[in-house]
Amino acid sequence: VSTVRYWCEYAWLGGTSVTASVLIETSGGWITGVTAGAVQPAGAVPLPGVTLPGLVNAHSHAFHRGLRGRTHRPGTFWSWREQMYALATRLDPDSYFLLARATFAEMALAGITTVGEFHYLHHSSGGVAYPDPNAFGHALIAAAGDAGIRLTLLDACYLAGGIDAPVAGAQARFSDGSAEAWAERVDRLVAATRPAVPGPTGTGPTGTGPTGTGSAGTGPARAAVAGAGVRVGAAIHSVRAVPPDAMAAVARWAAERGAPLHVHLSEQPAENEACLARYGRTPAGLLAEAGALTGRTTAVHGTHLTAGDRALLADAGTGVCFCPSTERELADGIGPARELHEAGVPLCLGSDSQAVIDLLAEARALELDQRLATLARGQLTAADVLAAATEAGARSLGWSAGRIASGYLADLATIGLGSVRLAGIGPADALDHVAFAATAADITHTIVAGQLIVAEGRHRLGDISTALRAALTPLEG
Ligand SMILES: [Zn+2]
Repeated sequence: VSTVRYWCEYAWLGGTSVTASVLIETSGGWITGVTAGAVQPAGAVPLPGVTLPGLVNAHSHAFHRGLRGRTHRPGTFWSWREQMYALATRLDPDSYFLLARATFAEMALAGITTVGEFHYLHHSSGGVAYPDPNAFGHALIAAAGDAGIRLTLLDACYLAGGIDAPVAGAQARFSDGSAEAWAERVDRLVAATRPAVPGPTGTGPTGTGPTGTGSAGTGPARAAVAGAGVRVGAAIHSVRAVPPDAMAAVARWAAERGAPLHVHLSEQPAENEACLARYGRTPAGLLAEAGALTGRTTAVHGTHLTAGDRALLADAGTGVCFCPSTERELADGIGPARELHEAGVPLCLGSDSQAVIDLLAEARALELDQRLATLARGQLTAADVLAAATEAGARSLGWSAGRIASGYLADLATIGLGSVRLAGIGPADALDHVAFAATAADITHTIVAGQLIVAEGRHRLGDISTALRAALTPLEG
């Protein structure tokens, strides 16, 4: 069992301010001791700056990294979707492995220690299954293992091209044909993973390492680096893509396994209108009826929820994942963060379309976008938005992480205070300063399961810009 000690100049231990001189002891990937006001002991790794719990990116589509910079010109959500489909048609498991590996490494450089990958690209063109029907899933697991970040693979059921419409074109690659075939494939993925992260008392989350995922033959080399842990969860792509009986089947699959369940919900007004017209219910109402709103469920976006929808989510204990930079980029709108927060709905955050990968920017947007929408300041505090970026995300993805406390996974992100953005920071205001002015570029150290993945701003895999260029160039349309 590896024991590593970190000494933090400042650390956020919860509450409204940071604590000076904090010693964090880790063993076997878990935090085993936290001491405030400690003298830096010999042998402890120094973490100058402000150390937060590792940031959690609860909603990602890794391949959308290939859309950044290429899809920002005028259009609609639906024209953006056509560009996304065009990219999806060009990917195979080997090219996706390289793109996801570099994208997950970019996340690690941004202080992200856990990602929830909402995964719907499953099959070869025309919808034909690969010899290994989870070839893409295994590529993502291997990519996260190499990049050193924890992964909850949210395997998405996707059966329809719209309400009462068959899948067409690129969507054929997303569909398993039926909820039963989806469950059979995902059960194979679960069986192919194995527990790798024992809990501190044997009762912690059972992660699985990306073993046996190396690609034999001519594909890119997939190093057998032990991953920080993988969990497989379920996703209902949306009410557009999954009919009600299949929603219920996916919800049952997740309930039987105690697995996280994610679903895109009410991102666009058109989705609400079509759902109401066909079923006489809002998307949230339809999900509730299918048994899909539970305490293990996270609704992604929730931009256009009615008051009744918000009550359904609050009553069920369902969380909501905001993706503010994507919701701006796609002209979705501003979701009801204040109302949900006041109703006790846990809010977490995602980089979604990867227009940027900066969880600190997403976190402050929770509050700043509310100011724009409501003409009132101070609805969510720095501690609230940082909790969304850490503990709430970990809860959504099924990990005992997101706090610097004994018994939590030893996942940390350190923000250096040397940049012009953070010059002049004082301990009393440090939490507000990092929540409202720090960026992904200020992250100096990222620690996952007690191990340094990023040190002094450098990823253990080396130059990630080069890796991203190499992965993206062959995918140019
Ligand atoms: Zn999404």
